[in-house]
Amino acid sequence: MSIHDLDFLKEKVEGLKEAGVYRKLPVLNGRNSSTIILDGKEMVNLSSNNYLGLANDPDLKEAAKKAIDKYGVGAGAVRTIIGNMDLHEELEKKLAEFKKSPRAFIFQSGYDCNVGTIQAITEKGDLIISDELNHASIIDGIRMTKADKAIFKHSDMEDLERVLKENEGKYKNTLIITDGVFSMDGDLAKLPEIVELAEKYNALTYVDDAHGSGVMGSHGRGTVDHYGLHGRVDFVIGTLSKAIGVKGGYVACNEAAYEWLNHRARPVLFSTTLSPADTAACIASVEKLIKTDELQVKLWDNAKYFKEKLGKLGFNTGHSETPITPVIIGDEAKSMEFSRKLREYGVFGSAIVFPTVPRGTGRVRCMISAAHTKEELDKAVDAFEKAGKDLGII
Ligand SMILES: *Cc1c(COP(=O)(O)O)cnc(C)c1O
Repeated sequence: MSIHDLDFLKEKVEGLKEAGVYRKLPVLNGRNSSTIILDGKEMVNLSSNNYLGLANDPDLKEAAKKAIDKYGVGAGAVRTIIGNMDLHEELEKKLAEFKKSPRAFIFQSGYDCNVGTIQAITEKGDLIISDELNHASIIDGIRMTKADKAIFKHSDMEDLERVLKENEGKYKNTLIITDGVFSMDGDLAKLPEIVELAEKYNALTYVDDAHGSGVMGSHGRGTVDHYGLHGRVDFVIGTLSKAIGVKGGYVACNEAAYEWLNHRARPVLFSTTLSPADTAACIASVEKLIKTDELQVKLWDNAKYFKEKLGKLGFNTGHSETPITPVIIGDEAKSMEFSRKLREYGVFGSAIVFPTVPRGTGRVRCMISAAHTKEELDKAVDAFEKAGKDLGII
């Protein structure tokens, strides 16, 4: 029994209820795939980041089971003491090959990767320049360094150049950080321009490609590959939890960065590494991506199909350049009501509202996957039409 009643937290939760944004966590009964059992009811799933359906891939599951038999269920220690298994080294080699990078360094999650890398590679006397819509894990990483920070307007290259110019010569290192794919709208960073500006002003570049890896570029090598910029971005972050289908994160970088992270990346020094099952499943996943691009072909085909149908119905699907399809509703409470209606019609599309996106841009964000069948997508489109008419959105 706690000695405090924590009424100040209760009041905050009441505030969420009054604003119509209070929610309970949905509970999955079973696997996260294109159709799910949610709170006991079967639904088409439009909200997972499992872009390629690999979270349920038989080859990955088999690799995980084999690894459990050989290595057990836990790594047993942080990597820097005695948790570093040959599996972890193998995954890093595979990732470097996949990303066409000299090296790749793994973390327990994409979140840890940003927090650990940004903190390790910057210090007092450096400047970090960050896109205003960068992911929360980048923001948290920046909070943990003693470097100065500056924000540029979302994908606004004039504003980025203004910041670079204003600070020219004032700092030891300048690091430009951007998401590769912005996950709320599905738009791409203007990487070719960012890289040119970085080269002009002698700045380092850092791209968080969590939603681009496995999705963009040849075989899903990411936005850097999509734009033909191999070798011109210093740090390329990816997650193993989205398209790769498992769990973890990595930074593709050069040898010097790899060595330094090995000594100074705090999530690696102070937290146990990926489990053998996760690691082996990631290896199997990356091997699959290197071998064939058939999943990317399916993913993009599905995304095009779904977007066209929603557009025809009259929904505002924003300006996405990726399989992420936001259906922008605006009002926060209405977005949540729309999501509830979709569930009544057998479709799970999560509402995303402030503070995840700016006020007044509430939406249901649809994540299309290679695992969706055309029948599932048709069912989803029907549900959008019904819910849209019910709420007077279309
Ligand atoms: C999801 C995401 C992360 C975090 O990745 P996890 O592996 O889920 O921790 C980091 N950056 C961006 C841009 C993301 O979208």
